[in-house]
Amino acid sequence: MKKRALLSVSDKRGIVDFGKALVELGFEIISSSGTAKVLKENGVPVVEVSQITGFPEIMGGRVKTLHPKIHGALLAVRDNPDYMKQIQELGIQPIDIVAINLYPFEETVKKGAGLDEIIENIDIGGPAMVRASAKNHKFVTIIVDPDDYDFVLSELRENGETTLETRRKLALKAFRHTAFYDSVISAVLNEKFGINEKFPDELSIPVRKRSTLRYGENPHQEGAVYTSPVEYRGLSVAQSDVLHGKEMSYNNFLDVEAAVNLIKEFDETACVIVKHNNPCGVAVREKQVDAYREALSRDPKSAFGGIVAFNRSVDMETAQALTEIFLEVVIAPDFDEEAFKFLTEKKKNLRLVKIKNFSKEPAGLDYRRISGGLLIQDRDLRLYKEWKVVTDREPSPEEVKDLLFAWKVVKHVKSNSVVIAKNNATVGIGPGQTSRVDSLETAVKKAKEFGLSTEGAVLASEAFFPFRDSVDEAAKHGITAIIQPGGSIRDPEVIEAANEHKIAMVFTGMRHFKH
Ligand code: 5GP
Repeated sequence: MKKRALLSVSDKRGIVDFGKALVELGFEIISSSGTAKVLKENGVPVVEVSQITGFPEIMGGRVKTLHPKIHGALLAVRDNPDYMKQIQELGIQPIDIVAINLYPFEETVKKGAGLDEIIENIDIGGPAMVRASAKNHKFVTIIVDPDDYDFVLSELRENGETTLETRRKLALKAFRHTAFYDSVISAVLNEKFGINEKFPDELSIPVRKRSTLRYGENPHQEGAVYTSPVEYRGLSVAQSDVLHGKEMSYNNFLDVEAAVNLIKEFDETACVIVKHNNPCGVAVREKQVDAYREALSRDPKSAFGGIVAFNRSVDMETAQALTEIFLEVVIAPDFDEEAFKFLTEKKKNLRLVKIKNFSKEPAGLDYRRISGGLLIQDRDLRLYKEWKVVTDREPSPEEVKDLLFAWKVVKHVKSNSVVIAKNNATVGIGPGQTSRVDSLETAVKKAKEFGLSTEGAVLASEAFFPFRDSVDEAAKHGITAIIQPGGSIRDPEVIEAANEHKIAMVFTGMRHFKH
């Protein structure tokens, strides 16, 4: 009996050559109308599905292949004599090779189609056939990716059939393909219907591989980066354009994420330098190059090999300054033509990264992996709930400006975190210590190390002070104003300490732990 192949594809790439090759190998080709048309036009003999089923395609293609004559042929278990007898009596002939790819649901959403068109692009018969073929992979070869045609052909040419191992691999790929497809549909409809269910009982997060990385966090760990097809309208680090330089590493992506989230806090021209997920220098200035030089001067030691982010297109003056030390990555919404040319000529390895949708907030929730599951939460997008002066002394207008600046920065520093700032630039950053006083000491130590005075500077703490000790310590270093969420049972004691030292203190009512 002649071997049979069913081809029903939306993405018609490579289908004519595949069809031709199958005919040469002695296959009979069965196709749905659109695929059949393309094949016939290119001289490939085809039997239409409707000829096999004796039933026309109906409702604009909603029902094309959903028929026992097709599904019986896909699901027939060749080594079950009863089943084979059944299909023989019903005039069903088994199908051996199946090539299907589904209605372009994602593309339809991306081009901005209306709900009706989006829904019409939910493939029904395709996934049914893909899953039937994948279930019956012991006998059926299912191809969902045109890139796999050649490989399958080479096996058919060599052995007259595919190996079981190949069919298993292709079946896995097929199940992943339909699962991914459905996860995109549910994510899109969740948004389109305005239901926006945040924490559904079951979760399927569609992501697609962008690339395999050289390694993970360390060279003995393998790694890859994935992008979300449903988060394309929000800020996207995963989909950033690496315009120049060495391949992005796992840690580069993490640092870029940290840097972009922080720089997005500022409307004014700003520069952020990040090392290992924490900022080591941040400054706001009129001119971009000044913002960079100031940020760099805050901790030039840490900035070596750092990740630098800007919220304006990088200009030529800044580009020149950027070539003075070794940096890993420069991130910006764009690069001026001249600056880009200069940087690419001067620095072969320096990664220049343009971020997609820089002005937008990231879409989706914040996911973190724990063994055996996930933690999911809203992103920390807000800054403060209130601005309440709790001390006898009000902060001066200058202090208010610096307090707000420090508060924006401290939100993006790993807990426990303390940021000392003055004149729209960080003076000392104390990240990730196990006690708040340790963070304060680190921040002061950093300032001293780089010759920066803490006299008249302000201090931000991302969570409340459990004791008055940090306030007393801050006073010793000349800090004149403090911003923190408040909310400790010892708040009265902490406020009293501030009053004793003539420190102005603001409560924000919003904590920014970052673990
Ligand atoms: P064609 O262009 O050949 O007419 O259609 C190919 C597309 O139709 C493929 O993407 C395939 O997955 C899909 N398809 C095949 N059978 C059915 C069906 O019965 N219902 C629906 N909605 N789609 C189908």
